[in-house]
Amino acid sequence: MTPPQSIVVCGAGGFIGGFLVKSLLAQGHRVRGVDLKPLAEWYQRFPEAENLVLDLQDKAACHQALQGMDACYNLAADMGGMGFIEYNKALCMLSVLINTHLLMAARELGVRRFFYASSACVYAADKQTTVENPGLKEGDAYPAMPEDGYGWEKLFSERMCRHFREDFGVQARVARYHNVYGPHGSYDGGREKAPSAICRKVIQAKLSGRHEIEIWGDGQQTRSFQYIDDCVKGTQLLMASDFVEPINLGSAEMVTINQLVDLAESFAGLKLKRTYKLDAPKGVRGRSSDNTLIREVFNWEPDTRLRDGLEKTYAWILAEMTKGRAV
Ligand code: NAD
Repeated sequence: MTPPQSIVVCGAGGFIGGFLVKSLLAQGHRVRGVDLKPLAEWYQRFPEAENLVLDLQDKAACHQALQGMDACYNLAADMGGMGFIEYNKALCMLSVLINTHLLMAARELGVRRFFYASSACVYAADKQTTVENPGLKEGDAYPAMPEDGYGWEKLFSERMCRHFREDFGVQARVARYHNVYGPHGSYDGGREKAPSAICRKVIQAKLSGRHEIEIWGDGQQTRSFQYIDDCVKGTQLLMASDFVEPINLGSAEMVTINQLVDLAESFAGLKLKRTYKLDAPKGVRGRSSDNTLIREVFNWEPDTRLRDGLEKTYAWILAEMTKGRAV
């Protein structure tokens, strides 16, 4: 157990940020949570933390957020699933202001550790053209051809972390998150990602009695999905370590989107008629995480089985969707 520290979580009102705040508080740290959203909209709220509503694209706000802190986790970004990042490239790229201003504040204030949440979207498109993706290795980010908009911002911000570390001594750590899912995230409204979107669609079909589901793409595209508990654990392992290169934090259990639907249907106890929306945003053809490096460095890798994590997520979304009504 590390001695108590003063730690700021940027993006604390978001999905991963909420779980990270919870974990840090449980370890006895003094935690400051910062987010752009009004407090009432944070996915999880902890009165024991100091909660600030600030726009971290603004430099002065970053200074205020990091004042008096030993460590900073930057999970703040304007983002969402494929449907959001495909149609909002400029908004995604503007998140570069958040990480840049946070790094500048970290340098000025002497913050001892800095974490940046990068993404599998940094990986070059030509390494993800087939469904049999063998798993993306850290070296596959270069030569660079990341996801347009969102991925370019992530790759640029990774390099910013690297050069602030090399030139100014800011102790930055960078994880490349692969699809994270779990309870307490968005499952509708346009920013949701595949696991929660599919759980929501299956639940809607069950509740409405219309046993149909629309799937984006042909359903054969492959992905891996990491449960939130693994993400929070791996993030803190990396932050505490001396490992300074960007590293994959993701599951190596690759499934097709059709298999993801099979799982959600098994929780609902029904089979749905599937229609495929071939012109919907689909992202790359195949993607999974090669975990050779993280196993070497931490003797661990995200290991929650998709079936187990998805069942908990499904149960939470069902409870949210049926609040106040008899099921
Ligand atoms: P999220 O959208 O739930 O949380 C991000 C939070 O950042 C939101 O609450 C949002 O209000 C806040 N934010 C946005 N702009 C801000 C600003 N200007 N000032 C202050 N706060 C601002 O997303 P998440 O799933 O929790 O992701 C956290 C981080 O992990 C992000 O950087 C994301 O890009 C990265 N990531 C997530 C996944 C995933 O599958 N969830 C995958 C790869 C990378």
